[in-house]
Amino acid sequence: MSVQPEDAVFAIAPATGERLEPGYPVAKPADVEAACMAAAAAFPTYRATRLENRAIFLDAIAEEIMALGDDLILRVMAESGLPRARLEGERGRTCNQLRHFAGVLREGSFLEARIDPALPDRQPAPRPDLRLQNVPLGPVAVFGASNFPLAFSVAGGDTASALAAGCPVVVKAHNAHPGTSRMVADAVHRAAVRCGIPAGTFALIFGLSNEVGGALVADPRIKAVGFTGSRTGGLALMQIAAARPEPIPVYAEMSSINPVLIFPGALAERAEAIGTAFAASLQMGAGQFCTNPGLVIAVDGAGIDAFIASARASIEGAAPQTMLTPAIHAAYGDGIAWLSGHDEVETLAKGGAASGPHQARPMLFQTDAWSFDADERLGTEVFGSASLLVRAERLDDIHHLIAGLEGQLTIAIHMADSDRDAVAAILPLLETKAGRILFNGFGTGVEVSHAMVHGGPFPATSDGRSTSVGSLAIKRFLRLLCYQDMPVDLLPEPLRDDNPLALWRMTDGAMGRA
Ligand code: NAP
Repeated sequence: MSVQPEDAVFAIAPATGERLEPGYPVAKPADVEAACMAAAAAFPTYRATRLENRAIFLDAIAEEIMALGDDLILRVMAESGLPRARLEGERGRTCNQLRHFAGVLREGSFLEARIDPALPDRQPAPRPDLRLQNVPLGPVAVFGASNFPLAFSVAGGDTASALAAGCPVVVKAHNAHPGTSRMVADAVHRAAVRCGIPAGTFALIFGLSNEVGGALVADPRIKAVGFTGSRTGGLALMQIAAARPEPIPVYAEMSSINPVLIFPGALAERAEAIGTAFAASLQMGAGQFCTNPGLVIAVDGAGIDAFIASARASIEGAAPQTMLTPAIHAAYGDGIAWLSGHDEVETLAKGGAASGPHQARPMLFQTDAWSFDADERLGTEVFGSASLLVRAERLDDIHHLIAGLEGQLTIAIHMADSDRDAVAAILPLLETKAGRILFNGFGTGVEVSHAMVHGGPFPATSDGRSTSVGSLAIKRFLRLLCYQDMPVDLLPEPLRDDNPLALWRMTDGAMGRA
């Protein structure tokens, strides 16, 4: 039976504007319900899988993704307009994320196992035997992101961390890359069959309107949500989740302009090099990174002209790049048109003009601290390779400007030895504003590791206590459970006295493998 266009999601090739076959059937309400019911039915079995078996499953997903070979790369290239090298790198990152979480499972400390042995003789009252570990929340809804069709999509970081936690996953595919989504979902299913993972542990659904995602978040069987996308979308999902009879957490990564602070000593020492590196970071992936440097703050004076000159040279020599979707391209166009027409904003540099559909040019604008302060909208995200340089008159202005900013994923500091005291003075403020503070670099390029934080205060994310990248992303889908005076033969393996998994645990307040 053929799928009718109105009932199907088709990709639009951003490089040509053409519709790509085939169409992928839109989920009806009954389909969303069936996926959530199957996930709930799989949960008791899946949560009980041994950590090693879950790790083998994650490794198998990575193998199956690699086995898709060049067919996958060609489809993502067509659907996203992103170049081969970037997508091959992103595929590697996706597989490494899956393997990273397999490692997290084998290491085991994410369980945070703790034992407070009973103190029967304690006065005035005995202490019971208390044992704690993290347990999975239940089925998780994941929204694939447009800007990382592999690494933040169907089998991306949210899915990998939820599956690692022991949670079944229902993914709402992003309409920008439905064919990619289907191929990766089939790879996950093949891995599940190979590893004896219960059916229903993973499902993919498509939607043409907000209704499908809304129904998924509202389904009573869903216990948490992972999302990367627009602030409007993230806020809408948070509202749906909060209005449920049983509210659930939404981990939404939404909007950030990732301020870059260039201190006077750094400008005096190496303005040109900073300008070149900044322009490269700005243009990476047509600026479609959540960590794109959308704001630069520098104190006016020696070096700032050299910074501008080198950034300008790089931007003006740059070819336009195809953006991910017609809608994202249109939103970028609106953003730069607004900045270009702003009375207090000057255009410093623009890249080469578009020569094909959905192409965008990088842009650099500048304004002064007073004007930036006076217009809140200047501090909001223009998704794409546009950045605003704010020229401050004095170092103190930087404090004032930062104090007025919303929460950020990253803040980058460029400093020299002579800037040490000024940087130390502003650090306490920066610590309240960002999830990651980095020195003499740029936030684009997010390492998947144990100490990474890809999060930050609202609106960078909906919950600034969390990260969506790195091992600690698993915590979003776990909750603490304490067993009091539990019969020894009922204790889960991680909490048994003989520590059969050789876990790093806290026993009576001391860490060890006892
Ligand atoms: P989006 O519009 O937020 O959509 C992301 C996903 O959420 C899609 O699957 C969408 O599905 C769903 N969705 C959005 N609003 C919803 C609602 N009210 N109810 C239920 N589901 C909803 O993001 P996008 O399409 O990727 O890009 C649009 C803009 O988001 C960009 O121009 C950019 O400004 C921003 N963005 C930011 C980042 C970042 O990392 N900061 C990343 C990507 C995009 P349906 O459309 O099918 O409902």
